[in-house]
Order: sequence, then C-alpha cells, then structure tokens
Amino acid sequence: MNQYYYMPTRVVMGDGCIGNNSKLFASLGKKALIVTGRHSAKINGSQDDLIKALDAEKIDYLVFDKIKSNPTIAIIYEGAAVAKENKIDFIIAIGGGSPMDAAKGIALLAAQNISEENLFSGSYENKILPMAFVPTTSGTGSEVTKYSILTNDKAQTKTSIATELIFPTIAFLDAKYTDKLSVEVTINTAIDALSHAIEGMLSVKSSMITNALAEKSAQLIMGCVPEMIKAIESPTAPAFSPQTRENLLQASFLAGVVIAQTGTTAVHAMGYSLTYFKHIDHGKANGMLLAEYLRLVEKERPDLSTEILLAMNLDNVDEFKSLIKQLLGEEQISQEEIKQYSEMAIQTANIGNCMVKPTKENIAEMFEQSLRCL
Ligand code: NAP
Ligand code: FE
Repeated sequence: MNQYYYMPTRVVMGDGCIGNNSKLFASLGKKALIVTGRHSAKINGSQDDLIKALDAEKIDYLVFDKIKSNPTIAIIYEGAAVAKENKIDFIIAIGGGSPMDAAKGIALLAAQNISEENLFSGSYENKILPMAFVPTTSGTGSEVTKYSILTNDKAQTKTSIATELIFPTIAFLDAKYTDKLSVEVTINTAIDALSHAIEGMLSVKSSMITNALAEKSAQLIMGCVPEMIKAIESPTAPAFSPQTRENLLQASFLAGVVIAQTGTTAVHAMGYSLTYFKHIDHGKANGMLLAEYLRLVEKERPDLSTEILLAMNLDNVDEFKSLIKQLLGEEQISQEEIKQYSEMAIQTANIGNCMVKPTKENIAEMFEQSLRCL
C-alpha cells in the first residue's frame, strides 16, 4: 500500500513564541475572532499575550468565550454567525481540544453555508477562514489535526468533521500556558495523547513517518509518568516541572501529527460512548480501554504489541494496565451499557481503520475487562 503524509500547519514553538512572532497574525487578516473557553485562557496568560501581539500588529478582535467541554453543533453555528456579522477575517483558538475543535467548525461555517444535515458529509467548498491555534492542554493535538469532534445528539455520540480544509494555518506551542493545569486534567490529556500515539501505530494508515513520531511521543509521555504518580500521591506539592510541561506539549503535538495521518481506532470508537453517555472525560475514557485493546492485538499481532510496549519501556500488557489504573482510577459499567456501546462502536469507521479488527464480542469483552462490571 502507498504511504501518504500531509500536514500543512506552520508550527512555532517555545517560550514567548506568540509575542516573538506577532507578524504571523498580520498575515491572516485585520480582524480576528478569539474562540476560547470560559475561564482558563484569562488565567494562564495566553489571552493576555495574544491580545498584546494583536495590538502590536493593529489587528482588531472580538472574544467568543462560550466554548464548554465536548462542544456542541449549536455552538459552532452560533460562533459562525458572530464571525459573519462582524466581518471577521480569521479565527484564533485558545484552549484545550474543545475550543480548538469548535474554532475549526466556526472557521468552516463562517466561510460557506453548510446545513446541519451535511455538516459531517466531508464534501465542502474549498473555502475556510484562516486559523491560528494556541493549545493550552497537552492531549488532543487538535492544533495539527484535520478533525473537529462535536457532540452529536442526533447520533448520540461524538462525530468528526474530517477534512484537510480544517488543518489550522498556524499553531503556537508555549508550554507555560499549561503550568496551572490541574493534576487530573494533565494526566487525562496526556493519556489521550498516548492513545493517539498507540492507536496511530495500530492503524492501517500507519507509516514509517507516523511510527517514528508515535514512538517518540510515547517515550516522552512515559518519561513524565513518575511525576504524574508523585503528583497523585502528594497533591499539595508543586506538581510538574517546566521540562515535563514542555515534554507533554511536544508529545501531544507529535501524536496529533500522527492521527492527522492515521485516524484513531477501536479505542476512540469505544471511548466516545463513555464520554457521551457516562460523562467520562475523553482522555480517561480512552486510557481505560487501551490496555485491553493491546491485549487483543497481542493475540493476533504480537509483533505490533511488542513494538508498542518497547516504545513505552514496559515488559507486558499487565504492567501497562496496572499503571493506567494507578493514573486514571476505575469506573463502572452495566451489562446493558456494554451491549449498547458495543453495538454502536462496531459500526464506526474507526473499526475499519484497525490493523487488528475487533468483533462486536471482542468489543464487549474489552468494555467488561476495562471497567468494573455492575
Ligand atoms: P477541554 O474540554 O478543551 O478542556 C478541559 C478543561 O480544562 C476545561 O475546563 C478548561 O477550562 C480547562 N483548561 C484548558 N486549558 C487550561 C489551562 N491551561 N489551565 C487550566 N485549565 C485549563 O479538554 P481537552 O481534553 O483538551 O479536549 C477534549 C476535546 O478534544 C474533546 O471534545 C475531544 O473529543 C476532542 N479531541 C479532539 C481531537 C482532534 O484531533 N481534533 C483529538 C482528541 C480529542 P476552560 O473551559 O475555562 O478553558
Ligand atoms: Fe483523542
């Protein structure tokens, strides 16, 4: 099979990268819509730095700070209406995956009329507003992916707008904005990035390039695990060193580049139900399922599971499972939930993306082994 790699986002990294590169914003237009969450961007310094950079370039801006976790379809239509009314030239996202994914949808809908019916069709005109992204969690890698993942109440799951059109134009990666992330969000998001790296290695679209990036990402994240465990054990002590914050942000970015090429697999397909129905955080939902998927992979493709365990510097799946339990804790699931979520997961495109394709029975078994069964 031919291999394919495309990642058009310009990436600028390092301390002060927004202020030092303010001219890049001027290349995007004269009026920006800043899409962000309710609180964190105002507290972690990212919004202030951004506004200084926009002022320096005499760029006008408006703040749309209504994005909550797991953004809805309605909020992107609302944001797009604001962008159109105010003749916005480009979109800036600050925040975790939720504001970044919402910003992609807003940039698309502000440039063309797409009905809700056709929102996930994948067939759009070649028009979108430029986008500058500032990730403030280290997990989703949305700053370098072509996905906008939205809560889809009609389908009772999370559904992706997936198109190369929505690759952000520029990403600014400055780890100091992640300094104040809580221990819980830090760990959940890091494990989301680890899922991306591992699922990338298990995708039919994996390649020499994506495997190299995924292995590096997994190594970086595993190198931060001792600090994560220390942070759980002594919650009052200062949590993470600047180097760890930097490594997690880079790992998340690398894993984002990976899934932009490979997509995700069974783990994300299953995790979406845990988030939609049981409100389990996205990273935690995936993380709890990872070890059991790796166990299934081990049965059919031991070469793949060995490669992944080696990248994580672990000896076996059980060691991985107990580490994940220590980091994420446990959740419960009922037999009815397992039946419903397995039926939904088996129908997703992610399953076709798996090198080791689980059956519906395999999926049910993975849910049963990963969560505490009621
Ligand atoms: P998130 O939902 O964006 O944010 C979680 C929480 O963290 C929010 O309460 C947020 O507060 C807070 N927060 C963000 N940055 C902070 C900071 N620097 N300091 C303190 N608090 C901060 O979480 P996420 O895990 O990053 O994103 C999850 C979403 O991304 C899901 O919808 C998932 O499906 C999606 N996702 C997308 C991709 C992709 O390729 N596009 C890949 C994986 C996952 P505020 O609301 O106040 O900002
Ligand atoms: Fe994810």
